[in-house]
Amino acid sequence: MSDPKPKPKKPRGVAFLLDGKCIACGARCQSVCPVNCVEMTDSGEPIIETAKCIGCQKCVKICPSSALEMFFTPEEQKILAELAATAVPVEEEIDPEAAGLARKLAEYRGVWVFVEQTEGEPAKVSWELLGVGAELATKLGVELCALVIGENVEHLCREAFAHGAAKAYLVDAPVFYHYRTEAYVEASCHLIAKYKPEVILMGATGMGRDLAGAIATRVGTGLTADCTGLSIDDKRNLMQTRPAFGGNIMATIMCDKFRPQMSTVRPNVMPMPVRRDNVDGMIIREEFTVPEESILTKVIEIIRDGHSKNAVDITGAEFIVSGGRGMMGPENFAMLQELADELGGVVGASRSAVDAGWMPGDRQVGQTGKTVRPKIYIACGISGAIQHLVGMQDSDIVIAINRDKNAPIFEVATYGIVGDLFQVIPALTAKIRELKKIEVLT
Ligand SMILES: Cc1cc2nc3c(=O)[nH]c(=O)nc-3n(C[C@H](O)[C@H](O)[C@H](O)COP(=O)(O)OP(=O)(O)OC[C@H]3O[C@@H](n4cnc5c(N)ncnc54)[C@H](O)[C@@H]3O)c2cc1C
Ligand code: SF4
Ligand code: SF4
Repeated sequence: MSDPKPKPKKPRGVAFLLDGKCIACGARCQSVCPVNCVEMTDSGEPIIETAKCIGCQKCVKICPSSALEMFFTPEEQKILAELAATAVPVEEEIDPEAAGLARKLAEYRGVWVFVEQTEGEPAKVSWELLGVGAELATKLGVELCALVIGENVEHLCREAFAHGAAKAYLVDAPVFYHYRTEAYVEASCHLIAKYKPEVILMGATGMGRDLAGAIATRVGTGLTADCTGLSIDDKRNLMQTRPAFGGNIMATIMCDKFRPQMSTVRPNVMPMPVRRDNVDGMIIREEFTVPEESILTKVIEIIRDGHSKNAVDITGAEFIVSGGRGMMGPENFAMLQELADELGGVVGASRSAVDAGWMPGDRQVGQTGKTVRPKIYIACGISGAIQHLVGMQDSDIVIAINRDKNAPIFEVATYGIVGDLFQVIPALTAKIRELKKIEVLT
């Protein structure tokens, strides 16, 4: 009996670009190629180095405009035709690279939120992150955990449980009393290596930005800063949305090949979850420390922001009256202060007003300023550029005063007043005073 005919190997082919079909989507084909054989031209189209192409078809599958196809030589086409004709079952080759990646990603489970603290005082943004973290954890079917590092900070674990965490990883030692990058990175990376979370969220504060960047670099993963939206896709990937190109587009960024997936979110972007009293959780106390002598940074003194008489924290205000270029000059902000005083609020500003030197930088609302979420935001003489809107559009009520009825600010306004702010604002202030007087008399 003769040997059975060896099973022919299915040819893999090489990728090629169809003329005129590429829409220059941003080099998706290049980003997925496992062997880096795709180069992009200045006009954003791919050039495929066919000698290096392994025919994995990843670029073909990801291309949103079906601009890529597989090319087979006449010999390869003949084999394919033979295989089809003889119906020789060709076992679907399992892509070893994809299988290895899937195994690696599956090792990581759980959503972590870094609980930022200074001398035991938590940063509010940590609890806001537990709110969105809970949604992600539910979608992934995993636990929401807090990462607490400091000295004598066990109370923060309980506070994290009250805000939705089921578990807290606690590293508590004198060396962690003050935040120092080296010490906190060591502690965080130790825990990440041991427990392998799939998502880590941190506040986009001075501390969070510093720590997140250092951790991402050390563990070799991606980090998306200043996210305004977080959700999960059907492959367990974190979809991280943030403004890009100066705020003119919203980009959704994924980190689908590395874990953990890391994001920072600015304070007041995510809603504060409802606090639950008497809720318990599990504290995993890690006996980990770093020798003090190995840390080059020494904290000599902490000088807190906001101690000066004129400092105002607009991020915590319930009422904000903001002025833009329409205020015409710094002297007119007194009018906004009067209205803010009547409401028990503070005065904010657009970047134009800050750039003009009419208001200090700490009052700026928007993408490069503060994100605010007051009960009432009154925008006076502010056009409503996207970079301003991203900083205030989640306010409970937005009242816009603008003489241009087509100003974009009206698109996010709960109430819009089309008129001259120099008439409207004094009238509004006078009306509030009048109502207050009636209230006192009755
Ligand atoms: C990368 C980047 C980041 C940015 N970050 C920020 C940011 O953080 N915050 C921010 O605010 N901007 C930011 N900007 C700037 C932003 O694009 C706008 O230029 C800015 O918000 C416009 O400020 P404005 O609305 O005060 O001024 P304008 O756009 O000039 O609007 C003035 C408005 O006042 C109205 N007006 C004039 N006179 C009166 C009157 N008498 N009565 C009633 N209405 C009147 C006008 O109709 C107009 O709508 C950023 C831009 C870039 C590129
Ligand atoms: S088929 Fe695979 S190897 Fe070839 S260019 Fe596309 S992604 Fe790269
Ligand atoms: S993925 Fe498709 S549309 Fe995007 S750059 Fe590559 S060929 Fe062009």
